[in-house]
Amino acid sequence: MDVEASSPAAATSAGRSLYEFAARLYPICRSITGAGVRETLALIRARVPLVVHEVPSGTRVFDWEIPLEWNVEDAAVIDADGRRVIDFQAHNLHLVGYSEPVQTSLSLGELSARLHVLPEHPDWIPYRTSYYRRDWGFCMRARDRLALRAGRYCIEVKSSLAPGSLTYGELLIAGRTRAEVLFFTHVCHPSLANDNTSGMAVMTALAEWIAREPRRFTYRFVFAPGTIGSLTWLKRNESRLSRVRHALVLALLGDPGALTYKRSRRDTSEIDAIVAYALAGDGAVIPFSPYGYDERQLCSPGFDLPAGRLTRSVNGAYPQYHTSADDLSLITPAALQGSFETCQRIVELIETNQRYVNLKPKGEPRLGPRGLYRALGGSEPATHEYAMLWVLNQSDGTHSLLDIARRSGLPFAVLREAARALEAAGLLASPPARSAAAGRGAARRTLAGKTRRESS
Ligand code: ZN
Repeated sequence: MDVEASSPAAATSAGRSLYEFAARLYPICRSITGAGVRETLALIRARVPLVVHEVPSGTRVFDWEIPLEWNVEDAAVIDADGRRVIDFQAHNLHLVGYSEPVQTSLSLGELSARLHVLPEHPDWIPYRTSYYRRDWGFCMRARDRLALRAGRYCIEVKSSLAPGSLTYGELLIAGRTRAEVLFFTHVCHPSLANDNTSGMAVMTALAEWIAREPRRFTYRFVFAPGTIGSLTWLKRNESRLSRVRHALVLALLGDPGALTYKRSRRDTSEIDAIVAYALAGDGAVIPFSPYGYDERQLCSPGFDLPAGRLTRSVNGAYPQYHTSADDLSLITPAALQGSFETCQRIVELIETNQRYVNLKPKGEPRLGPRGLYRALGGSEPATHEYAMLWVLNQSDGTHSLLDIARRSGLPFAVLREAARALEAAGLLASPPARSAAAGRGAARRTLAGKTRRESS
């Protein structure tokens, strides 16, 4: 299970395979509903046994409603000479997401209000959507906008907004316990690479890796459109949420920025400690805020799941964000691989961050006769011996190995080895059944509290 430092050759190949998958997903015109999401989930499903759910338009989800399904066949602005001066076929960002069907002719003056540009980046196409207000529009390079001549333009948007469904994919990998670790990524952006093909590529590879061997926790992966997708998933899984022990939203994992962990709303969730430890010295930890991706929904007060978020650059904080410059040149195999390996480290910590009980807590048990301690007295104990002393001292059932790592300054891996040795010598009890039962009891209490609140 340990993630060994990869050889340079392996590093290149794993990173390249993440990048190649992101590149396959990149051209697809995704939105919060429609064929693009299905095509995307089909590519993921070819690698992991995803269950694809379809939830009908009009379904109420909390304060929201699943919108009409949007699909687009073609869209263009055509000049008097018949040239497609704005062409959806050239780049799917050219059409405002969820544009309603249009067939008309307008003067440049009339058309202007429908054209979105980025004057500060004249060669980039902005990304715009209008999911919940019926509208239409085009996005284009500011440079091309300046080149448009006065005159009449034909506008053709061959789209459909019709009753259909919202599509999301879900994968469950059962572990030894029913307690769940939830990974979430959004699947609703068209041709944007870092946001959001990188998240889908890393999460798919992570699911493959987790499925490769038996795990302590049950792992659930949800690939859903942002906001309405996570709300829909929450609505349909509300009765199961008490099982979620840790949750992590994955997004923006391919750019060259440093890894950034956004803490959960609770701020002291175990996942907060785990990811902060996994990133130590090689990334930033930022506080929770009620903005961003699906952590907004997972951490809304009615759920308050222990959900953090892992990105590299954060949303809105890199110039290419939500523009055509967030393309395959922004993401790199090395960045994707680094993100993936960090996720692997996080999973290892989740799996092994146990609490123990010292079975001989009155005074120090003798380690020498048990073959655990150096025979020769007088010198300072070696790191491994220190680690055993720390684990024995702190193991009263309340401190996890990560708590002990922080307090002692010793590496988690050394403490974990010490705990294994002490357990093998009969000095520590590994209490998975006890802690799981306690956890379930706590979860039941939380759920009961929620149920009461809802019915009052
Ligand atoms: Zn986005």
